[in-house]
Amino acid sequence: MYENEKLEIIAVAQEIKRIGLVQLTGGNVSVRMKNGDIVVTPSGMPYETMTPDQVLVLNKEGEVIEGTLRPSVDAIALKYIYDHCPDVSAIIHTHQPYATAAGLVGDEMPACCTTLCNVCLGSVPVAPYSAAASEDMGIQTVEYIGDKRAVILKHHGVIAVGPTLHDAECSVVYLEDAAKCYLAAKAASPTGEIALMTPSQVEEAVNTHKTYGQN
Ligand SMILES: [Zn+2]
Repeated sequence: MYENEKLEIIAVAQEIKRIGLVQLTGGNVSVRMKNGDIVVTPSGMPYETMTPDQVLVLNKEGEVIEGTLRPSVDAIALKYIYDHCPDVSAIIHTHQPYATAAGLVGDEMPACCTTLCNVCLGSVPVAPYSAAASEDMGIQTVEYIGDKRAVILKHHGVIAVGPTLHDAECSVVYLEDAAKCYLAAKAASPTGEIALMTPSQVEEAVNTHKTYGQN
């Protein structure tokens, strides 16, 4: 079941691997169906050769109802986020290095680029450390994400959420771009201070993006 969603999950997982947001078999990609079922990548399997039958389906209780592999070790955290965020239909977890580095510099990734604000809806909060395979990853995400589309997990990586998988993909991609810009600007600034967008510029960027594309 959910063949189209499985194919989309594989395509997105291959893309985030291709552009270096995860290494080897790290991270995970999942979507939630309208009936509450969760479709999620397996634990420790290469994305390049992944086939739809390797992608698992869990029911809303988190039990595997289709697939023979073990689901992502972070499934317990993903379930916690889906349970507590009714508007979230897709989650991407990465170990992207620049956003993770930005999370070691301060308690938020500030609104420094318009593309970041377009897709993450402003600055991105940094949550305290949580380990892989822990429900804590989900608890910290829910506590810190607010109305944004991503959160940086300190010393770990990023969790991005969205109403669609494409939205979550845009968030991890542009968050990484903005983090590169932010860290370069901080390194180049004699005082470490950098220019940030004003609240009205952020608001404009968030609103402008609602009419982007063909939908
Ligand atoms: Zn992780």
